[in-house]
Amino acid sequence: MSYDFHGQHLIAGARVDAAERFASSPATGPSRRFANGTPALVDTACRAAEEAFESFGWSTRETRARLLEGIAGAIEGRAADLTEIAMQESGLPEARLVGERGRTTGQLRYFAALIRGGDYLDLRHDAALPDRQPLPRPELRMMQRPIGPVAVFGASNFPLAFSVAGGDTASALAAACPVVVKGHPAHPGTSEIVAEAIAEALRAAGLPGGCFSLIHGDSVEVGTTLVQHPLIRAVGFTGSLRGGRALFDLCAARAEPIPFFGELGSVNPVFVLHEALRARGQTLGEGWAASLTMGAGQFCTNPGVLVLPAGAEGADSFVTAAVTALEGAAPQTMLTDGIAEAFRAGAAGLEALGAVLLRNESRARSAAPVLLRVTAEQFLRERALQHEVFGPLGVIVEVAGDAELLALARGLEGQLTATLQMDAGDMPLARRLLPVLERKVGRVLANGWPTGVEVADAMVHGGPYPASTNFGATSVGGMAIRRFLRPVCYQNLPMALLPEELARPLE
Ligand code: NAP
Repeated sequence: MSYDFHGQHLIAGARVDAAERFASSPATGPSRRFANGTPALVDTACRAAEEAFESFGWSTRETRARLLEGIAGAIEGRAADLTEIAMQESGLPEARLVGERGRTTGQLRYFAALIRGGDYLDLRHDAALPDRQPLPRPELRMMQRPIGPVAVFGASNFPLAFSVAGGDTASALAAACPVVVKGHPAHPGTSEIVAEAIAEALRAAGLPGGCFSLIHGDSVEVGTTLVQHPLIRAVGFTGSLRGGRALFDLCAARAEPIPFFGELGSVNPVFVLHEALRARGQTLGEGWAASLTMGAGQFCTNPGVLVLPAGAEGADSFVTAAVTALEGAAPQTMLTDGIAEAFRAGAAGLEALGAVLLRNESRARSAAPVLLRVTAEQFLRERALQHEVFGPLGVIVEVAGDAELLALARGLEGQLTATLQMDAGDMPLARRLLPVLERKVGRVLANGWPTGVEVADAMVHGGPYPASTNFGATSVGGMAIRRFLRPVCYQNLPMALLPEELARPLE
C-alpha cells in the first residue's frame, strides 16, 4: 500500500495525536494503532465546527457544490489505497468496495447538483397587504436555513457510503452544516484516508478546516460526549438499534434536546402472494436466498422475513429452492469478530422458537446461512422473531389464509421496507395489504428485493420506529438534506438584510 497511516485524529484540518491508542482488528492484513478520542478533543472539534459555521453557514451554494465535487475527486485520487485498506478492515470483496466508492462519490456529486438547483430551499413568500382589514398583513419570506454543527456516526457495513464521507456528511455539508464524525472502530484506516480527502478539498476550496473533524475511538465515551455537546445541533446515525437507542435517549435527555436521526436495522418482510407463488415458486425461492446471503446478510435492507401462504401451490418448490441455494452458500467473512459472534448468538436464540430448516455452521469470523420456519401465530407471539439478527438469517412465516396474512402485517413493527411478490391475479389482496404496509415502512416494493437503495429524489430510506428514530426523515436521497435544515421566516426585513436567495422578487 502506498499510503502511510499516521493513526491520528483529524481535527479542523490538523492531525492530532493522543496519549492512548487502540489496535484495529482487520479481517486480513496488519493491525494498526489509532488515536483514542477524549471528551476534551470532542469539545475542541465542536468549538471549531461552531466557529466555522459563522462563515460556512452563509457560504454560497456554488462554493459548497464545488466542495462536494472536490471531496469526490479527492476520494477518487486515493481509490487504490482506499479499496485495499477497506478490504483488509471489513473483509468485503474488491468489487463491492469499488461499487461502494462509486456510490459515495456519486452521492457527493448528487448533492452538489441538488443544491445548485435550489428547490430544496423551499422559498415561500406572502406579499404584504397594507390595506387588509381589519389589520394589514406584513410581508413574510421563508427559506430553509442550516442548523449548525452536526455529529455523524457511520455503520460498519458500509465503510464508505455510510461512513466518514457518506450520505449524512454529504447532505450536512450540502446544507452548510459543519460535521464532526465519530469514526467507526471497525474501519479506522479507511476513515483516516477519507478524512484526509475531505480536509484536502476544504483547503482547496478555501473553506475553514473546522467544517470537518474526524475523531477516532473504540469506546462509547467519544460518542456519548459528542451527542451531548451543547454546540451539536443534530445527529446522523447509522447502526444498530441498541446503539442508536442509547444515543437517541441521550439526545432527548439533554437540557436542550436535539433531533437524532437514527437509521437502524430492520427485517424487511417479503410477502409472496398466491399467483406469484404458483407461477414462479422456485425462482422466487432462489431469488430470496441470493438476496439473503448478499454481503453475508449484512445489509439493513436484508429481507430476513418471508411470508408464505401455507400449503399453497408453489410453496414446496419455494422452500426447496431456498434451502438448496442456502445449503450451497459458503460461509462468508463477517465485518467484525463481534458481529460474527452476535450472529451466532442471535441465531441460536431464535432456533428454539421455530422449525430449523437449515442450521448455522459458522466458525470464528464467518457466517453461514440459517433458515427457520414459524407459524404466523408464533411470529406474532415471539417479538424476538421481528428483531434483526445481523447476518444471513431467514425466517419463513407461514400464514393460513388472507385474514391471517393481514393480521400479521398489522402486527409488524416499523420497517425500512416491505416487498410484495405478486402477479396480476394478486391485485385484490395487494390492494387490501397496501394501506396496512404503508403505515409500517418507508419503502414498499413490488417484484424485486429490497437490498440496493437508489440515491434518488423519491427515495425513502427510513421508516417508523424501530427502523429509524424519526419516521419523517430519510438518510438516502435528496430529502436527506432536510434533516439538517430548519425553516426561518423573515417578516418585513429590508432586502439588504435577507439571505441572497430571498433578496429578490418572489412570486
Ligand atoms: P453499531 O454497533 O450500532 O455502531 C455504529 C456506531 O455507533 C459506531 O461508531 C459505534 O461506536 C457507535 N455506538 C454504538 N453503540 C453506542 C453507544 N451505546 N454509545 C455510543 N456510541 C455507540 O452498528 P454497526 O454494527 O456498526 O452497524 C451494523 C448495523 O447498522 C446493523 O444493525 C444494520 O442494519 C445497521 N445499518 C442501518 C442502515 C440504515 O440505513 N438503516 C445502513 C447500514 C447499517 P463503538 O463501536 O465505538 O461503540
